[in-house]
Amino acid sequence: MGTLRLTFWGVRGSIPVPGQATAKYGGNTSCLELRSDRGDWIIFDAGTGLRTLGDSLDLSKKYSFHIMISHPHWDHIDGFPFFTPVYIPGNSATIYGPATHEFTIADIFGKQMRFTFFPVRTEELVAAIDYRDLSEERLVLGNFTVETIKLNHPVDCLGYKVRYEDKVFVYLGDNEPYYNVYDDGDPEVDATAEAMNRRLADFVAGADALVTDCQYLPAEYEKKRGWGHSTVHHALNMAAGGGVKRVFMFHHDPLRTDAELDYIVEHYRAKIAEKGINLHLFAAAERQSYEF
Ligand SMILES: [Zn+2]
Ligand SMILES: [Zn+2]
Repeated sequence: MGTLRLTFWGVRGSIPVPGQATAKYGGNTSCLELRSDRGDWIIFDAGTGLRTLGDSLDLSKKYSFHIMISHPHWDHIDGFPFFTPVYIPGNSATIYGPATHEFTIADIFGKQMRFTFFPVRTEELVAAIDYRDLSEERLVLGNFTVETIKLNHPVDCLGYKVRYEDKVFVYLGDNEPYYNVYDDGDPEVDATAEAMNRRLADFVAGADALVTDCQYLPAEYEKKRGWGHSTVHHALNMAAGGGVKRVFMFHHDPLRTDAELDYIVEHYRAKIAEKGINLHLFAAAERQSYEF
């Protein structure tokens, strides 16, 4: 029996949105961490929440980080230049993520810190930084086994599954259900999309906790089709179908206020109870931790 501790540092999609209307759930972009009760530790995504994670640490100690990036859109990498531990000698970090057809992970982090954009280059960071391109694969990090899966998003994007003892954690960054983009009713294309969705549903099935893109409500989705994001409805159907125990709605739309998120959580919790589904629903909030 192992215990995992999940903590959110940035829960917002697309762009940081500080302000009174987002103070409860938070305005920082994607960043979360998973720690085991035996010291295993992975940080997922390096949005602006990574800055607060870094500054929450005892910086007199030395750290060896594993940072796994879902994909290189700004909201998933823009906290890295402000991650204080990489400016401290003796620390080290390995950054994992999907290369794109243009850039490796080293390029992606290197280019956002070119002189034009930021005064410090990655070559000047005093912590030892390694980069590792990932595709669909399985890797072992201490007591964690990590599996990756490709997601439907307008750039290469990976979902991550971590197994630890009897526990399973899944993080699906930005993703949209697969569909027939031609909308032509071609049964072969429809079947392929369905098979891809089935494959993702199998990946999350049985998870103790699932953190997943829930940027839109069903009523908003049609106008945003093809933008690469899911609805709460879709995520819950997938999770409930696979017996997932806890779902954390994540990558909140930048326009979504605290009051709206409160309402959405209550609305869907009532639906879950009404249908008698054994699933706990949360809207991810900055600096909130959960153990399971
Ligand atoms: Zn995003
Ligand atoms: Zn994205």
